[in-house]
Amino acid sequence: MNNALDKHGFAMDLVEQTATPFYYYDLDLLHATLDEINRQIEGHPFKVHYAVKANGNPRILKEIAESGLGTDLVSGGEIKAAIAAGFDPREMTFSGVGKTDWEIRLGIENGIGCFNVESIPELEVINQLAGEMGKKAGITFRVNPDIDAHTHKYITTGTADNKFGISIEALDQVIRHALTLPHVNLRGLHFHIGSQITEMQPYVMLCETVNRLLDRYDAQGIHFEIINVGGGLGIDYMDPDAHPLPDLEEYFGTFKRLLKLRPNQLLHFELGRAIVGECGSLISHVVFVKETRNKKFIILDAGMTDLIRPALYEARHKVQNLTAADSDGQETYDVVGPVCESSDVFAHDCLLPVTRRGDLIAIRSAGAYGESMSSCYNMRSLPSSVFAGGK
Ligand SMILES: *Cc1c(COP(=O)(O)O)cnc(C)c1O
Repeated sequence: MNNALDKHGFAMDLVEQTATPFYYYDLDLLHATLDEINRQIEGHPFKVHYAVKANGNPRILKEIAESGLGTDLVSGGEIKAAIAAGFDPREMTFSGVGKTDWEIRLGIENGIGCFNVESIPELEVINQLAGEMGKKAGITFRVNPDIDAHTHKYITTGTADNKFGISIEALDQVIRHALTLPHVNLRGLHFHIGSQITEMQPYVMLCETVNRLLDRYDAQGIHFEIINVGGGLGIDYMDPDAHPLPDLEEYFGTFKRLLKLRPNQLLHFELGRAIVGECGSLISHVVFVKETRNKKFIILDAGMTDLIRPALYEARHKVQNLTAADSDGQETYDVVGPVCESSDVFAHDCLLPVTRRGDLIAIRSAGAYGESMSSCYNMRSLPSSVFAGGK
């Protein structure tokens, strides 16, 4: 069925027969990415968890579960979805600063591997609820490494000013407290420094921080079974055709070279965007081409309700016209959605082939934080999804 691929790799028969807007997932690319991850970690005490919040589409989850990854979860709903997709509960980590009682109970009931604890009140509640259920909950502490955001602007979650994690100064005391609690089992330390990180320097700094902490706790006779370095590896939004896979060799190589794991210690990674980002595109039709005095607008049937990243973070995605050819001549357009918000803009001043009503437009690299952040604002329908390739 998916024989005729266009120059960007889209199965055009599938694209043309599906009502827009929809997400198009290239399962061959997803599997190529997963296979490369498994190749990079082979022979190392490494375990990769998929961050489900990046994309919780059931088919995507099932494909990733089959490749043997664990999961990083941030809600009870995600725990349920991961279990339904066949992920192993023992390889689940539940993160988040505001875990509610039912979510904690759900995790304990299902025997998830770790609660990634972000505060002392949370530690107390997990201990209490596990006690009531006659169980012991595995925990890691989420450490806020306070890596300077001004030096590294792409780091957004690992500084002292944000809500995530426990500060390094408070850590000694929190660990000592946890070791006295009967219903938690302290398994390790966790770090997650930010997202869309495309240079290795923040990870180099993270390795140095982790090495320092491991020395410190060695001296106190405390061994951690798990070190979790979070996720955040970025993708190429500007040129997805040139870099369909992130540089996984450089990423894992940085930790292989620099992080001094102890014997019987596992290194966990939690990748979201790097796994699913490039395999998804948002496909839409051009509803109108509209000209004003100084601008030409392409108005799509897809909007910020389908892909909110441009409106939310001023993120930029590659926009491609799948119908028109460059040989038709080119024009500069603003590419916008139909939603009643000025921020419903996918691209400013975008050079595209001369575009007409009815043309098919692909918004690339939309596999992560696209469908999973979609909404029904303006009483629009949620986008559907189709899958090309795969086993
Ligand atoms: C969001 C998140 C991730 C994944 O981040 P990516 O940038 O998609 O790799 C990993 N760990 C935690 C704790 C997260 O909140």
